[in-house]
Amino acid sequence: MDKSYAKAQEYDRCDTLSGFRDEFYIDDEKIYFDGNSLGILSKRAEKTALDALKSWKQYGIDGWTEGEEPWFYLSERLGTKTASLIGARASEVVATGSTTVNLHQLVSTFYQPKGSKTKILADELAFPTDIYALQSQLKLKGYDPEEHLVFVNSRDGKTFDEEDMIEKMTEDVALIVLPSVLYRSGQILPMKRLTKAAHDRNIAIGFDLCHSIGVFPHHLHDWGVDFAVWCNYKYLNAGPGAVGGLYVHHKHMAQTPGLTGWFGSRKDKQFDMEHDMTPADDAGAYQLGTPHILSAAPLIGSLELFEEAGLEQLRKKSLALTRYMMELAESKLEGMGFSIANPREDEQRGGHVYLEHREAARICKALKAKGIIPDFRAPKGIRLAPVPFYNTFTEVWRVIDRLQMIMEKETYKKYKNQRGVVA
Ligand SMILES: *Cc1c(COP(=O)(O)O)cnc(C)c1O
Repeated sequence: MDKSYAKAQEYDRCDTLSGFRDEFYIDDEKIYFDGNSLGILSKRAEKTALDALKSWKQYGIDGWTEGEEPWFYLSERLGTKTASLIGARASEVVATGSTTVNLHQLVSTFYQPKGSKTKILADELAFPTDIYALQSQLKLKGYDPEEHLVFVNSRDGKTFDEEDMIEKMTEDVALIVLPSVLYRSGQILPMKRLTKAAHDRNIAIGFDLCHSIGVFPHHLHDWGVDFAVWCNYKYLNAGPGAVGGLYVHHKHMAQTPGLTGWFGSRKDKQFDMEHDMTPADDAGAYQLGTPHILSAAPLIGSLELFEEAGLEQLRKKSLALTRYMMELAESKLEGMGFSIANPREDEQRGGHVYLEHREAARICKALKAKGIIPDFRAPKGIRLAPVPFYNTFTEVWRVIDRLQMIMEKETYKKYKNQRGVVA
C-alpha cells in the first residue's frame, strides 16, 4: 500500500463529506478520536441548545406549547427524526431517559417469565450497566440472577460466534438482551438473524444500540426487533448526559409499560390529571416524568446534520477511515506488540478500530500528551474512532505515525501503566 502522507491528503481531497468538519468545534491542536465515547459539539447542536434557553427566557411556562420547538411535543418529535437512523416508524421511537433507565423500562415490560420460561440471556462481554439492570430486574420479579441470568460465551474473549448465540436460545429463555455492536471489539452482531432465531423459539429480543446508532443504517421494524435502547452522546453528538432514546415495535403498542409515569399518557389526556392512566398509543407511552428539555435540545441540531449528510454516506466514509487505519497499523506498527482485535470485514466492523497492547494504558497517556485523544478500555484496549463527520484521513495517518514514534522512542515508558478515573 501507499503509506505516504500525500496519499492521505489525496483521500481527504476526494472526501465528499469534508465540508461537515466546519460544522463542529474542532481544536486544531488536537486529534479527537473519541467520538464513540463522547461526540464533540457541533454549531448546530449549540444553536438548538441556546434556542431552548431562549424559549425559556421568553416564554416561561408557555414554552411547553409556544416557540419553535414546543417542549410538550419535543420527545416525540425527536423520536420521529431519529426513526430514519434505525429503520423504525415514527410512532415506534421516542427520545427519553438514558440507556440504563430505558433498559429498565423495557425489560420490566418485556420480561414476562412464565412456568419454566424464566431466564434472561445476555452476553459475557456486555457493558456493565446493562448487566446490572438485568440483575435488578430479575430480583424485582423474585428470581436469582445467579441462576436466571445466562450468558453467551466468547471463544476469543473479544467477539461472538452467532451459532453459539443461537445455541443458547433454549426453551427456558424468556428474553434476550444484546448489543448491536460490542463496545470493545466493535463487532457487529447480526441483528436480523438473531431476531429471527429468537422469534422462532418464542423469545422476545431487544438490542442496545449505543455503538451503532449514527454509525450504520438499521432496519429494526422490518427485522421485527421487539425493542431497543441507546444514548445520544456518542456518535449522535448531543452532548454529555444527553437524553437517550428507545424503540418499541408497533405490534407491542397495546401493552401497558412495565413502569408508568404521567408523561407516558396520551397527550390529550395527560392534563386531565386522572388517577387512571390512559397510555399513549405510540412509543411515547414508555416515558416516565417531565422530559429533560435542556439535554434534549442539542439533539435537534445534531439530527439535522445526519439528515444533510446521509447515513449511507457517513457509513461509507467511516469504513474507509477504519480500513485505512488498519492498513497503516499493519504496516507501520508491525512487530511492536499490537494486535488488531476488531473484525476486519466491513459487514462485521462498527465505527472504531480496536487495538490491543500489553502497555495500552500508558501508550494512551503518551498519545494524550501529544494531543491525540484515544479511548482506553482496561486492561489492554485502545479504541480509536475516526468519526466521518469531523475526522480526516490525514488525522488517521498522523495518529498511526505518532503511535509508531511512541513505540520506537519508548516514550510511553515515562508513564504508569494504570488507567485514570474515567479512561
Ligand atoms: C455508553 C453505553 C451505555 C451507557 O449507558 P448510560 O445509561 O447512558 O450511562 C450503556 N450501554 C452501552 C453498550 C454503552 O456503550
